[in-house]
Amino acid sequence: MVETALLGFPRIGPHRELKQALERHWSGRAPAENLDQGATSIRREHIQGAVRAGVDVVPCNDFSLYDHVLDTAVLVGAVPARFAAVPSAAHERYFAMARGTATVKPLEMTKWFDTNYHYLVPEIDAGTRFALQADKLLSELRDAREWGVRARPVVLGPLSFLLLAKSHNAALPLSPLLDRLVPVYEELLTAISDAGGSEVQIDEPCLVTDVTDDELMAFEGAWQRLVTARPTLQITLATYFGGLGKNLERIISLPAAEFHLDLVRAPEQLDRAITALSSSARLSLGVVDGRNIWIADLESLIALIEPVIEKLGADRVRLAPSCSLLHVPYSAEGEERLDARVRSWLAFGQEKLGELQLLKAALGADGETRRELIAANHSAVMSRRTSTLTHDPAVADRLQAIRPRDLERRSPYAQRAELQAQRLKLPELPTTTIGSFPQTKEIREARRRHESEVMSTEDYEAFLRDQIRFVVEFQDRLGLDVLVHGESERNDMVQYFAEQLNGFAISAHGWVQSYGSRCVKPPILFGDVTRPMPMTVRWWRHAQSCTRKPVKGMLTGPVTILQWSFVRDDQPRAETCQQIALAIRDETLDLERAGAQIIQIDEAALREGLPLRRADQEHYVRWAVDCFRLAANGVADATQLHSHMCYSEFNEMIEHIARMDADVISIEASRSQMDLLDAFRDFRYPNAVGPGVYDIHSPRIPTAEEIVGLLHEAEGRIPRERLWVNPDCGLKTRGWEEVTPALEHLVEAARSLRAGTGARIS
Ligand code: GLN
Ligand code: ZN
Repeated sequence: MVETALLGFPRIGPHRELKQALERHWSGRAPAENLDQGATSIRREHIQGAVRAGVDVVPCNDFSLYDHVLDTAVLVGAVPARFAAVPSAAHERYFAMARGTATVKPLEMTKWFDTNYHYLVPEIDAGTRFALQADKLLSELRDAREWGVRARPVVLGPLSFLLLAKSHNAALPLSPLLDRLVPVYEELLTAISDAGGSEVQIDEPCLVTDVTDDELMAFEGAWQRLVTARPTLQITLATYFGGLGKNLERIISLPAAEFHLDLVRAPEQLDRAITALSSSARLSLGVVDGRNIWIADLESLIALIEPVIEKLGADRVRLAPSCSLLHVPYSAEGEERLDARVRSWLAFGQEKLGELQLLKAALGADGETRRELIAANHSAVMSRRTSTLTHDPAVADRLQAIRPRDLERRSPYAQRAELQAQRLKLPELPTTTIGSFPQTKEIREARRRHESEVMSTEDYEAFLRDQIRFVVEFQDRLGLDVLVHGESERNDMVQYFAEQLNGFAISAHGWVQSYGSRCVKPPILFGDVTRPMPMTVRWWRHAQSCTRKPVKGMLTGPVTILQWSFVRDDQPRAETCQQIALAIRDETLDLERAGAQIIQIDEAALREGLPLRRADQEHYVRWAVDCFRLAANGVADATQLHSHMCYSEFNEMIEHIARMDADVISIEASRSQMDLLDAFRDFRYPNAVGPGVYDIHSPRIPTAEEIVGLLHEAEGRIPRERLWVNPDCGLKTRGWEEVTPALEHLVEAARSLRAGTGARIS
């Protein structure tokens, strides 16, 4: 009989218990022992739950108090020198690396491949002395043993660890670093084996990216040494988030007990892998989608897997999710408020374990028994395929009718800019903000009370109108030039729209870890998207009625809505995105009709949607930018279209950013001291730019002089006529006591530059 295996489970706890335990500990309300107790009971539940669900190969060390890449840095002793003085007991040093202290900067954080999970970037320099520190891993292995399970420890492999790390020195080539790191892994394997482990899973997700030949060769050498460390230990080389591409044969012919492949993202690997596999190795088939929340089509999986079993024999095949289940929520059990049909199409973590079991049982059965086993799955798959909930012929017609000119503004930027200048009469260096204002306790409390029906909708809306008036009048008083309504009515910039669009569902408990204790609850995009009615217009109208200055209409762009949702997998993402774009386009035009002279469409996630392999990126950026254009560019020349993107790596994207053709884009820039504007200068970016001059991610309040300094830097790259003055991003995470002086300084800086009194500071 084939075995089932799990690469990793969500860690945050079925009801976000880990989040609560962490936050209690960080705020000083609970000692480390309490946190450890909480963490242990979550781990025990994972392991015993997986066994109860029938999983044959259960992972350990997939759990983490904060992040598994940070765990790996600690495991191999890559702790930067600045943390040496922080005591290591009671996780103090660990959390200092994750979150910083009053005096020590934390590790940087960045996105884990193309997921919405963020990892801490290890820092490696010439002085890094790797040394094994395997307490965590070994105690998780021992705990599992105590709970009656021979678990398979998971560890991030040496190649991926180094490629994901930041080397302080470009003169630190990979190969000698690997030579220094591999002995630590060898020691680790020996320790695992001594502790009674029989298997280990080494994750090398970087192998699905464009690794160079040198990198691959260095990896092959390292791997050969690893596997000989403890020949009795069975090693699985796990890859996921894509395929091995042209390197597949080379990698599969390495010595290993097992290879795990992501056959959801890269099904084309299967046949080649079977051919390349040595007769002593197993194949772990990643066939259940670990990145999305839809039920698997068991019938077609059986058709895929059965011939593999025939060729390799059942003992050389394992069935698994495509990757760790870290990226899906725990269980769909509590989602009874969803439409029953949509609910029947969902498989969160727990349900995916059930699917593996069913798959295994069905493969071991035949005829009538098999049909019975998968009958419920089959009817859910069929209902999803044919449901009127997912397919709206009017949407298909509308997509068909899109013409190239729908993506274009009527006139080129220069002409539009003139019309807009006449209409808006803004001063030089206009000041504005990105959209949100502080989401105070009071606002969150009111939202909670309204959601739990303690507060009536009427009272809640009156409360929001007061909030908006307050925020608008505040900006007016401060002397900002282009105002916003503050977004107090939005729980989240994506969910707010998803709640109002057809084709989306909002789960009650579908939380996924974003980083540390932070979780997000991505909306579920299950069907064709339409907009039953305007979503933002009445709030904008109210805001505009509070001032004579222009108030920006504020929308989230189609790519960002797509990127931050769980998206249907039965049609190309590009097509789904076009549907969202059409809905946002309607909203844009309604705002314009209502009198909005400026409309901002945020595309915070445009860049993070980039595929992992360079060869796939061009196609993505084309359709993504086209979707933005479809959403935005239906407006008249005199309407000023803004976009906002909160990241700073534009070098490779700049021509695509230009193709968006927004009249004004605001971007993150303050942390890089405006360096990123070089890309705009070198490209001769033609439209207006608002480089952020206030780093809202930090509690620091910039002085007016600092802002003047940054604007001087900016003027060196973008002419003043096309320069705006704004913060890096929305202000929702900051308090009023920070926002007020920071914006005062921002207005002051712009005024002194206009008056020609902005002294250059060095
Ligand atoms: N308009 C949003 C805000 O100001 C943009 C947030 C973002 O870019 N992440 O909060
Ligand atoms: Zn932003």
